Amino acid sequence: MKTALRPSLCKTPLLAAVLGLLALGVQPAAAQERAKDLFGAKKLPTATAPQSFGFYSKGCFAGGVAIPMAGPTWEVMRPSRNRRWGHPAMIALIEKLSVDAVADGWPGLLIGDIAQPRGGPMTTGHASHQIGLDADIWLTPMPSRPLSMAQRESMSATLMVNEKTHLVKDALWTPAHTRLLKRAASYPEVERILVNPGIKKKLCDTVKGDRGWLRKIRPFWGHDYHFHMRIGCQPGSPSCKGQEATPADDGCGKPLAWWFTEEPWRPNKNPDAPKARDLMTMANLPRECQAVLEAPGPVSAEAATYHGGGVPMATAAPEPEAPSPPATAGGGEPALPASANAFAATPEGGVPLPRPGN
Ligand SMILES: [Zn+2]
Repeated sequence: MKTALRPSLCKTPLLAAVLGLLALGVQPAAAQERAKDLFGAKKLPTATAPQSFGFYSKGCFAGGVAIPMAGPTWEVMRPSRNRRWGHPAMIALIEKLSVDAVADGWPGLLIGDIAQPRGGPMTTGHASHQIGLDADIWLTPMPSRPLSMAQRESMSATLMVNEKTHLVKDALWTPAHTRLLKRAASYPEVERILVNPGIKKKLCDTVKGDRGWLRKIRPFWGHDYHFHMRIGCQPGSPSCKGQEATPADDGCGKPLAWWFTEEPWRPNKNPDAPKARDLMTMANLPRECQAVLEAPGPVSAEAATYHGGGVPMATAAPEPEAPSPPATAGGGEPALPASANAFAATPEGGVPLPRPGN
């Protein structure tokens, strides 16, 4: 029927022109492709040297490695999300933490989201976790019996905080939780650990003796099922943008008290407004991220999986000359709303600061 129709339609010059354009694949100014869709579609990392580009909430990374689905001291949760990738230094540190935590009396780590294989904005969840230097670890200890893959998809984490009072549920908090956070904060690479304000308060109220590590424990929305461990920019990443150092004090004073006022918990007036990660296009990310998207990957996920013994590099697929991302940071990228930095102290207007789930 269509073929019979077309000749008569083509008698109209305008229609003929439109049909011609459609045949050429020319479409009226379509929305620019979103970076989260491009990065979210990548199944494997780049098979290039490890390097982070940009900031925790606006960037990407190359040379990622995966933490194995399970080891003697950890299990990866929600494996279908394929977010068990990170900078090799991050993955090595998570494994180290898992071993140290067991020695401290924590049964093992349940590992939440780290990053997508090449980082970048995520299709759901997190504003940060974009440059391979952030990881979420559950505040639920690893069960004694191995979890099946199905259980890892469905098992719930434990909510540690009363959502009305914003205080830790005392029946659930144990000294082992405190030791786990202290251990994570003890590593020089770890710059910040994000926890719910109730958890920060619990530590402020109960930690005796050495309190220096509390400086790294930062209150934030959400983070009541898991904590978020962030390491600094790693050597070999000249265009990685670090975060300002945390204040030198334990953070248990005025800034913490603010979290127990009404202000941080006022309902979001515009809950449906798009988040920064929903708006970002490739033009908003460091220029190198385009090369990261296009670079060849390893032969398989297994070929880029970390198996201990120092810092690994992904094994490249046998391909000619991998184009490596340019070494310098891109300039002149279009400005994003201030909230693209999920951890800015104060929102500067525009898109609202990301709420829980970061
Ligand atoms: Zn996180």
